[in-house]
Amino acid sequence: MMRVVLLGPPGSGKGTQASALERREGIPHIASGDLLRANVRENTGLGRQAKPYMDRGELVPDDLILEMMAKRLSEPDAQKGYALDGFPRTVAQAEALGERLEGLGQRLDAVIYLEVPGAEILRRLSGRRVCPSCNAIYQMDTMPPKKDEICDRCGTALVQRDDEKPDVVGRRLQVYAEQTEPLLQYYRKEGLLHEINGTIGVDNVLAAISGIVEGKAASREEQCL
Ligand code: AMP
Repeated sequence: MMRVVLLGPPGSGKGTQASALERREGIPHIASGDLLRANVRENTGLGRQAKPYMDRGELVPDDLILEMMAKRLSEPDAQKGYALDGFPRTVAQAEALGERLEGLGQRLDAVIYLEVPGAEILRRLSGRRVCPSCNAIYQMDTMPPKKDEICDRCGTALVQRDDEKPDVVGRRLQVYAEQTEPLLQYYRKEGLLHEINGTIGVDNVLAAISGIVEGKAASREEQCL
């Protein structure tokens, strides 16, 4: 059982690491962006409200996100913990998550900040392709699929997200700096923040994250004995 938040700019590896944690630790990878894109694809009320913000690279309003996440976090699989990717993204969202946890007598185990320099972020985002069907993420330079532009997991043709085209990427990075970066200070004060160099390779980053979260889980179990 562990509850982890992955923080970092778009392209820092949150999705890759959260999905690796899902396989390694058996906790669900919950990505607010994937949930929103599924709503857009299915043309739900939430999808129709969120799409204009997403297309511009801006944040969807907190009330819509909080409602969506409250629903997702109350599903049965999330009771054994989770790796959150893309949520919280504002201080208001972090406060709401904190209140929810407090109400349930729960706590986050760790907030992992994946630190990646800006130039590397731009390079990564331009080479990123995603599977529109199972949400697997590829990096054409460093993590390409086995068959050109085809998902290894499910065989669907990969796509570049509309919001990863150069004009929107700049806005997403600006929004990250203005609205999400303050969370670093927020979680540092809470004593939950762990900073990891996000450029040391996927396996090394995973090893570093696993070391942190498994250490936390072990010390919590000891306290309960
Ligand atoms: P992502 O896949 O995490 O990069 O998210 C894609 C887009 O979905 C973002 O650019 C936002 O428009 C929206 N989004 C995802 N998560 C959130 C969130 N926690 N709060 C507000 N907007 C979000």
